[in-house]
Amino acid sequence: MAADSHRQSETERGGMREVPAVAVVPLMADTPKTETRTTVTENQAAAPSSPAPAPKKPSGLAVLMPTVESSSLRQVYSCPESLQRLQSSRPKPQYVCPARGPAVGKTCSVLGGASPVAASGIQIIVVPTTAERTRPKSHTKTCHKVIDDVPPQPAPFLHRCVSLRSNPPSDTFVIHTREVLGSGRFGKVHKCTEKSSGLKLAAKIINTRTAKEKERANNEVQAMNQLSHPNILQLYDAFEAKHQLVLILEYVEGGELFDRIVDESAPLTEVDAMVFVKQICEGVSYMHQMYVLHLDLKPENILCVNRTGHQVKIIDFGLARRYRPREKLRVNFGTPEFLAPEVVNFDFVSFPTDMWTLGVVTYMLLSGLSPFLGDDESQTLNNVLSANCSFEDEAFEHISAEAKDFISHLLVKERGGRMSALQCLRHPWLNNIAEKAKGSNIVLKSQVLLKKYLAKKLWKKNYIAIAAANRFKKISSGGELTSLDTETDTVPIAT
Ligand code: AMP
Repeated sequence: MAADSHRQSETERGGMREVPAVAVVPLMADTPKTETRTTVTENQAAAPSSPAPAPKKPSGLAVLMPTVESSSLRQVYSCPESLQRLQSSRPKPQYVCPARGPAVGKTCSVLGGASPVAASGIQIIVVPTTAERTRPKSHTKTCHKVIDDVPPQPAPFLHRCVSLRSNPPSDTFVIHTREVLGSGRFGKVHKCTEKSSGLKLAAKIINTRTAKEKERANNEVQAMNQLSHPNILQLYDAFEAKHQLVLILEYVEGGELFDRIVDESAPLTEVDAMVFVKQICEGVSYMHQMYVLHLDLKPENILCVNRTGHQVKIIDFGLARRYRPREKLRVNFGTPEFLAPEVVNFDFVSFPTDMWTLGVVTYMLLSGLSPFLGDDESQTLNNVLSANCSFEDEAFEHISAEAKDFISHLLVKERGGRMSALQCLRHPWLNNIAEKAKGSNIVLKSQVLLKKYLAKKLWKKNYIAIAAANRFKKISSGGELTSLDTETDTVPIAT
């Protein structure tokens, strides 16, 4: 669906003020942990005959639930807690959250005990009422769900501060070059095994022919060395050869988040999306407390730990930067539809830059639509700059007001108006998930739409690769081209 069809007029919020220059002192992790394990199973519930209450149609980025924060507090929304403490001694903003009714307006019997998974935490079986069982089915699908709202296992090794080694990686590791886990902008990722321990890992082979590529790869090592968190992929070792750098990484087997959730045999509900987003926020919150900006938090860089659970890890720190107040970072590459307005404008990037991308990812998870995607790159970049997105599309029909409010506080043009990762974790949408799981079981339409989105992206990638290969063939036969830029989904940002 063209993004324009659900676009509305711009609604900007809050004036922006830069964070002051302060000494950069890394902070220790202070992220809240989810300890509740919630198991929700549900008998096949016939959808209610009367449609669910229609959600209020917001206009533009209208805030659906009022907040009590003052505009001055908003200006410091997206910097870490330590900076916020420096800037304001006033009370932290509180969200005013309306009571949340069952998503499909149905009554549920809540029983305890019988669950297909290990008994820890709350176990809830939701069964339909007799009236529901006899009602004719509507277009709204519901599903049985097991929600495992727990943090992922940490890496199977302790955090390591890695220095580049110059001996060949084959001394220590077997890199299974035929088993490609994925390919990124700058190289391929393969399965790999440590010879001495048999530990299963991943080897990311990065081409470093140019000084810029070398800098990027080194940057990735430096950033990962600073980060030790279960929602952030861990670095195990690193090797430097003449034109390559090999990163040995924690291996995760669940694949990319969006690839997994389009599997319709595992229907996606809003509660699933909450758990995924909460995990991403945990990782980002920690990263920001360590003064690291990711700057490329697109869906491909969120991996699932396994094929069934809700645990995710953030990967690819190639574009990551240490935050230095008032430093203008030149971000040359990014995927247009996920870029924050300040990146497009070559303005200061900081913590809120990641929060914008998180807003885009959340919007996509819930609706399957890319909020700023245009017909071509320049239209996409213009859409980002206007920061207009709406919840008008029918894909948002059953999405809660809290979810829309959450996104509305991230897709804010002015950086100062966006929530920080810690504020996201305190937002009502990401809280009381066990309670919400009892009522929210509508299958999101985003699965089907995301499938189309991914198929289109793959088609585009293949098309560009073939076009590039043809171009190479044509020009190299004329002896004009020595190297080929095979970038597919990125665009250099004018500097
Ligand atoms: P990257 O170049 O780091 O963005 O990685 C490219 C792709 O390889 C990712 O989108 C994943 O699909 C896959 N991948 C990267 N790292 C790992 C890993 N540690 N374990 C499993 N798959 C990975």
